Amino acid sequence: MLNIKLKINNMKSQIIDTMMVTGKSIISHKFDAKLSLLYTECQKIVKEMLTDRTKNSSKYWKTIPCVVSKSLIAKYQRNEKCISVKNLAIQICGDKGKQIKLENNRIRIPAIFKKEWIDIFPSKPIFGHICSVEIFKRKRRWFLSYSYNTLKSTVKTVGVVGVDRNARGNIATVCDIQTGKVIKLGPDIKGWKDNFKNRKKKLQRKRATVLLKKINRKQSNRTKDINHKVSKQIVDYATKHCRAIVLENLRNIKDSKKCGRYTQKSNWSYFQLEQFLNYKAALRNIPVYYVDPYNTSKKCSQCGTINDINGKKFVCKNCGHKDHRDSNAGFNIGKNYLDGITRNEREFLASHIDVAQTSKGKDISYV
Ligand SMILES: [Zn+2]
Repeated sequence: MLNIKLKINNMKSQIIDTMMVTGKSIISHKFDAKLSLLYTECQKIVKEMLTDRTKNSSKYWKTIPCVVSKSLIAKYQRNEKCISVKNLAIQICGDKGKQIKLENNRIRIPAIFKKEWIDIFPSKPIFGHICSVEIFKRKRRWFLSYSYNTLKSTVKTVGVVGVDRNARGNIATVCDIQTGKVIKLGPDIKGWKDNFKNRKKKLQRKRATVLLKKINRKQSNRTKDINHKVSKQIVDYATKHCRAIVLENLRNIKDSKKCGRYTQKSNWSYFQLEQFLNYKAALRNIPVYYVDPYNTSKKCSQCGTINDINGKKFVCKNCGHKDHRDSNAGFNIGKNYLDGITRNEREFLASHIDVAQTSKGKDISYV
């Protein structure tokens, strides 16, 4: 168990009880060639490392990423008892997010995979950064085991809430799938956003830069304040009713182009809300899951038919279901996660291999 001192917004700090857990995922076949190449090179280097133990710095091993050579030195070369290595494991130390990036249940290791992401299925909410990963091969497949901190006390969730984020109207609509309850959070931001816009336009015409900066600052403070409040309300609800939080994954939105409603120029900060939600939820040990945003606003949450939507009212042409557009989307988001979980869990289970196979007597709890 570790005690981590966490600074929140430089305002207050708290002592939080965490524990380290390890999860495992299969690495997609598209990385096979890259990993095989790296693996062969590492094998060659480790052999040389063991014959000449004085070359114990990454500057001697320029053909592999520095972060990899460092771990090979620490794991094999400095270990006097190590004479030869059969099954090499490529270890990467997260270095507080510098070497291993984490985002919406996927990780990226720039040193090896450059800009490509790898999906992971952690069974507990990740607290902070990924501490380390180990890449290894078993029966022609590449695996990734990752360790992370999670809170010691666990909340057993008994359902999910789907959260729809908006540029217009209420900024978040929370839909409880189990009870059908809908909570609309945040003020209607359209009004004050237009107000800011008009004032900014006037100032831009006058070229009043000082005032313009002031008004921009004011707007961003207001946004931040609202996002803090809304994220707190969502996490409070989830804690009280033991719900996991489901959001749309809006990170890839630029690539997909399918989801017009988010590509519209909106200065509302979805990502700030997401960020606040993530850390507030992690503090309470509430899991946050992500689903594909495709068609969440067009699909009927009752029968699944895709409808054309106009304005804020949702009416299904198939079953006649009537709802507010945002709450219909919120229910879809929650349901999409529940529909997907069987698939994810299957993959998650399939990616699990025996503890004894990989860790040699190390006390790691595989989750
Ligand atoms: Zn319907």
